[in-house]
Amino acid sequence: MKAGGKPGRAAGVRIVLLGPPGSGKGTQAELASRRFGFPWISTGELLRRAVREESPLGRRVAAILEAGELVPDGLVAEVVEGDVRRRDPEAGFLLDGFPRTRPQVDLLDRILERLGRSLGAALLLEVGEAELLRRLSGRRVCGSCGAIFHLVFHPPRAEGRCDGCGRELTQREDDREAVVRRRLQVYETETAPVVDCYRDRGVLRRVSAHGEPEEVAVRVQEEILRVQP
Ligand code: AMP
Repeated sequence: MKAGGKPGRAAGVRIVLLGPPGSGKGTQAELASRRFGFPWISTGELLRRAVREESPLGRRVAAILEAGELVPDGLVAEVVEGDVRRRDPEAGFLLDGFPRTRPQVDLLDRILERLGRSLGAALLLEVGEAELLRRLSGRRVCGSCGAIFHLVFHPPRAEGRCDGCGRELTQREDDREAVVRRRLQVYETETAPVVDCYRDRGVLRRVSAHGEPEEVAVRVQEEILRVQP
């Protein structure tokens, strides 16, 4: 079955997408936001953009991103709230990469409280470590428009060039193996409590992230359609 059809049915839902680096959060968030038309908010992308633009935020976080460590909770929460407030409050959102620590769960609760909204669900993309390392080592990104490719699974049409804007593709600094291992370790210690918390609240939905992106997209989007706005 192909992911597609019934656009709009999920509009207005607020979903957190959880999963280790390399589980396909960005790819799935992009596919789902395209299908359902709700905003995709990626903290990693917002932070990388700030670094590219050398904004005051970017200068503050550049070294942290490069080392694969986490940006301070309060700072990421500010970035998220600023972005959410610029968007249509009725549109809902898919949050990719936040919350990533237990304190960030509380910070998100407060942001939603201030907006008078609630969270529909937390979707967890599950995939084993060997597969994660394989995926991350082949990932290439467009430094200009943020599009994501993979040398094996999703190669660009012209080698080393973005299909969308034609600019050069690069490997993210934090996709180098030593940094990848550190990011997986950080995920285990910092994000496992986030998963536990949403599980205890009864809003966690687990989705297998093995297989082709399109197959995973079918499973992810079926879950999204079950979430109440
Ligand atoms: P990602 O693209 O989601 O893998 O994020 C890339 C990097 O951005 C992470 O390794 C962190 O350095 C930083 N980052 C993204 N989201 C968060 C967050 N919620 N809390 C702290 N740091 C974050």
